Order: sequence, then structure tokens, then C-alpha cells
Amino acid sequence: MSLLKIARMGHPVLRTRAREIERAQLKQPSIQKLIDDMIDTMHEYHGVGLAGPQIHEGLRIFVAAIMPQDDEPLSPEDEPMVFVNPVITPIGNEVVEDWEGCLSVPDLRGRVPRARSIKVNAMDRDGGKLDITSHDFPARVIQHETDHLDGVLFFDRMTSTESLTFLDEYARFHSKDDD
Ligand SMILES: [Zn+2]
Repeated sequence: MSLLKIARMGHPVLRTRAREIERAQLKQPSIQKLIDDMIDTMHEYHGVGLAGPQIHEGLRIFVAAIMPQDDEPLSPEDEPMVFVNPVITPIGNEVVEDWEGCLSVPDLRGRVPRARSIKVNAMDRDGGKLDITSHDFPARVIQHETDHLDGVLFFDRMTSTESLTFLDEYARFHSKDDD
């Protein structure tokens, strides 16, 4: 297992549009190892998702410890999902606001509006077609990670910075907020 260094807010790689990955490129051992390392790195730092630019790779790929139809994050023993070249289409107009954080923006949380329901077209790590619909929490994770591939960070999506809070204060004042 190798842990990858995480790019933090201010690094230009987080603000650069990532490149598509060809199916043939995906089969290369170097990319497959990168995916394994991304999964290990996400688990090590207790992330729910990790995108290519966050580990200094400008590639359209992310890993996420989610089930598309399940509102709870996966436990570390479960194999995370891998999304390559994801394209998101919102379903309906419903927008929900909830807390988000980011390994590249350590120790901060903020409330971010996202589409409640989405359709995602992507490739899995073997180049297979991944066509799913997702709602609520996993849909939020998928939107957050796909934003990383376009150089967008979660607070860019906030309608107000009023809810921006440090983790300690989040735990003290906000972690029991109803949604
Ligand atoms: Zn993030």
C-alpha cells in the first residue's frame, strides 16, 4: 500500500480541469495501482471520496466509499466505487443543502446546495459502463468529487459563507443539525 500526498487548497492542480482517461489507458498497471493507492489514501484520511486532482493527478477519476442507493457511507472493508470520466445529469429540480468537507480543505465544513437526484454515466475501473441514478448523500458525494475534476471546490457552490465552520466548532454547534 502506498499513501499519496493530498493537494491542499491553493495548489493549482485543484483549479485545473482534469483530462479524460481512455479505456486502453485505464487497463495499464500504473493506473490500476494509482486507483488502489487512491482507495488506501482515502481510507487512511477517513475521506468518503477522493478525486485525481486531490492527489496531484489531473485525470478524470474519483473513488468513493458509497453505494449509489444507500444513504450511509461504506465501511472500510467494503470495496469503494471507482468513477472514470463521470458525466452527471440532474434529475428534476430539487436542490438540498447539507454539510460538506474536503480532504483538500482540511478542518472546514460548510453547507452546500446540491441536486437531490442525479444520473451518472461513467466507466468503472475495468472500463465497463457505469450508468446509475443516485439520491441524497451518495449523490452529494458524486457531485462533490465530479466538481474536483473541473477545478471546483465545495465552497464555490455555497450560496453564502455564513455556515463555514471549523471542525471543532462543527462538532460543538452543528453536528446535530436536522436536515
Ligand atoms: Zn473534496
